[in-house]
Amino acid sequence: MGLGIGLLGFQTTIAHSVTLSGTGVHSGAEVAITFHPAEADSGIVFQRVVGEQTISEFKAVSSQVGNTDLCTILGFSPATSIATIEHVMAAIYALGLDNLLVEVHGAEMPIMDGSSAPFIEAIEQTGIKALAVKRRYIRILKPVRIESGASWSEFTPYDGMRFEVEIDFDSPLIGRQAWKGDITPSVFKTELSRARTFGFMRDVERMWAAGRGLGSSLENSVVISDDNTVINMEGLRYKDEFVRHKTLDAVGDLALAGAPFIGCYRSYRGGHKMNANALKALMSDPTAYEIVETSTQRQRSVPREVIAVNAP
Ligand SMILES: [Zn+2]
Repeated sequence: MGLGIGLLGFQTTIAHSVTLSGTGVHSGAEVAITFHPAEADSGIVFQRVVGEQTISEFKAVSSQVGNTDLCTILGFSPATSIATIEHVMAAIYALGLDNLLVEVHGAEMPIMDGSSAPFIEAIEQTGIKALAVKRRYIRILKPVRIESGASWSEFTPYDGMRFEVEIDFDSPLIGRQAWKGDITPSVFKTELSRARTFGFMRDVERMWAAGRGLGSSLENSVVISDDNTVINMEGLRYKDEFVRHKTLDAVGDLALAGAPFIGCYRSYRGGHKMNANALKALMSDPTAYEIVETSTQRQRSVPREVIAVNAP
């Protein structure tokens, strides 16, 4: 079974603090973030800091998500919210990190190269350590499905953490692509983590005109021209980089469950909004999942009323 990171189901954090900085893709501003170790049961917490002062703090769970139009945002007011958390969350979730404090000097995460790879590198550089408290998992017990037009996504029971993501773009360069696999730290790192954000030139131009995506560039996005070619000199990192990035996004969005899930997540033509809505649908049906302290079958369940994984 490929769950966790081989630490026998114990919670984890990082060994030491580590800092990264880069450009915010929406604001174009320079931002610095520091990952700090955190105690067991504290979860993944983001703090927005100005100077020495913490102006807001959010647990990275779906009830704290304000907007998912362009990226995933924690908080409900631009003055205090923290944007573009999905690629960081994907790295944290895939590496099996349960507890972390993310100190953010700015309004959003740095976009880095548009993938999760720089965050993986930073975390691996400091190292991951086990804590003395058992990890809890969300085990999917029955199918939960949502649909929106031609798009759909669903959770189904499965003995592992599996993603099956399919996209279908009205662009001959992208077209129909699918990625399927069980997520382990090494699978995520080699197959998904380097896949970059992508966009169409016409949309990038429209975004810039509206004063958004100001930090977006060929350094952090794959850009597709109007005649359906990749503008970036270096080309693609994977032949099907597009669906791999969409899978990376889905991993980051489902990280907002607040605990690793044991099940299969499938999506067709999805995105941040659909991932967020699927997670909401799952969480709102207490008969669809159970909280367990081990990733192996038929172990004692922890009563749900004792542990609210996704509590606000
Ligand atoms: Zn993304």
